[in-house]
Amino acid sequence: MVSTRAKLTAAFVAGMLVVTVTLFLAVLTARNNAVYHDIAQYAAAQGDLAARVITEAAQSNQKLVATADTALIPRLSPKVSDRLQAIPGYIVVVDTAGRAVYRSNDVLRLKPQDMATMQTQLADLPKSGEALIFSLDSLQEKLLFVSHSLAGAPGGLSRIASGAVATRASTIPREYMLDSLLIVPLIIIAAGTGAFLFLGRTQRQLAEITTEVAAITDGRSLHRRLALSEDTTDFADLVTTLNAMIGRLEASFGALRRFTADASHELKTPLAVLRADVERAMMETSSQTERMVALEEALQEVKRMTDLVESLLTLARADEGRFDIHREPIELQPLVQEVYETALILGEAQGVTVNLPFTTDVVVMADRTRLRQLFLNLVTNAIKYTPAGGKVELGLGRHPDNVTFAVRDTGIGISAADFPHVFERFWRADRVRSRMSERGGFGLGLAISQWIAQAHGGTLTASSRLGRGSLFTVTLPIATAGQRS
Ligand code: ADP
Repeated sequence: MVSTRAKLTAAFVAGMLVVTVTLFLAVLTARNNAVYHDIAQYAAAQGDLAARVITEAAQSNQKLVATADTALIPRLSPKVSDRLQAIPGYIVVVDTAGRAVYRSNDVLRLKPQDMATMQTQLADLPKSGEALIFSLDSLQEKLLFVSHSLAGAPGGLSRIASGAVATRASTIPREYMLDSLLIVPLIIIAAGTGAFLFLGRTQRQLAEITTEVAAITDGRSLHRRLALSEDTTDFADLVTTLNAMIGRLEASFGALRRFTADASHELKTPLAVLRADVERAMMETSSQTERMVALEEALQEVKRMTDLVESLLTLARADEGRFDIHREPIELQPLVQEVYETALILGEAQGVTVNLPFTTDVVVMADRTRLRQLFLNLVTNAIKYTPAGGKVELGLGRHPDNVTFAVRDTGIGISAADFPHVFERFWRADRVRSRMSERGGFGLGLAISQWIAQAHGGTLTASSRLGRGSLFTVTLPIATAGQRS
């Protein structure tokens, strides 16, 4: 198979060939135009000279045309003719009847058939000063003629046709041809070799990057990065982009590994407790009451595990973008009222006062179950992390474009060092204590809450001070009139 390097070199050489040949032809055309212009000017100058001789003769009242009795065609007087013969080149003076009254020596030396050709051609010579080019067979030359008007000259003279050899203007000079035949291939060979060598370097650099990327992405070396060496400087941007991509891959692989490890760890404890409970229940020496207690505890652990698996499933679906959110117009006030009533019961059990000082009438497009889960998560957290005697305050506020549901507590708060991690999966400020405590969670509640807020086009933000309390705020877009109907 032809390599990319060879293909690119061939394309480059073909391009260079087209450019060079076009350039060669353009230079040739420009040069021919210049030569053609010079010859035309030369011929015109000869015509001017001849016209001046005739005009001067007319002004000095010399006889211009001598008509011999026997001759049918009038001829210029010998005196004027002699003076005109001093001008070199092809000169023909024509009278108003289109007859040649004077021919220069160069014209007279032409073979009769060439003379006839010239006569026919000159009959068509444009009067405007445009040049006419034609070739004469036996002379094997091209001639260029221009016309010079003698209108008003005495003796019935009409115009002068003056010409010069113009073969040079339409032939490619030998030396130019030879130079081009030598230079063009040299340019092409030099350019082709240069391109081939350059592409070789490029290909080597790409091969090096490819090998390195393959070595890094085998899964175990994601901590490594591509080096920006001398050999890869041409691809600095690519190397930087690939390094950024490897960085992201490393981060997500790390997160995945941590997630799996955390999930297994979280399941290990309830499973161990469950096993111990079942073993206790099965012991022959156990009394009926002991069996019941063991089974009750086992049931608790099963419930805990079910909750964990459900949370994991929710997050896995959210990650995949495969979640069921059925959005419909929801009146927030009754929903918040319902959450508040639940909070009152939870708070009472915990010795925490719960208030709802302000609420508003507003409709959002949301999934009722998910929204309820989000609000309850925040409220239960607030109560859970507020010691007895503390206060939890809920509030529903309306703004021009959105609505906010805020939960403020006077609880234990979160330290500045811990705060950046609150929305991370499986993160808990105090792992050991929360696992031991009866209501200890898995550290997935806030991650799920944040996902729910974002899935509704909103946000979940927090602020907290250790020992002073926390504030969690959900912001949701208000349903438009069109969505509500
Ligand atoms: P959990 O089920 O453990 O409560 P969350 O994701 O809901 O998991 O919360 C993660 C951690 O954030 C909690 O373990 C707790 O340390 C901290 N946290 C959440 N809400 C509050 C709050 N209102 N006050 C203090 N700490 C909080």
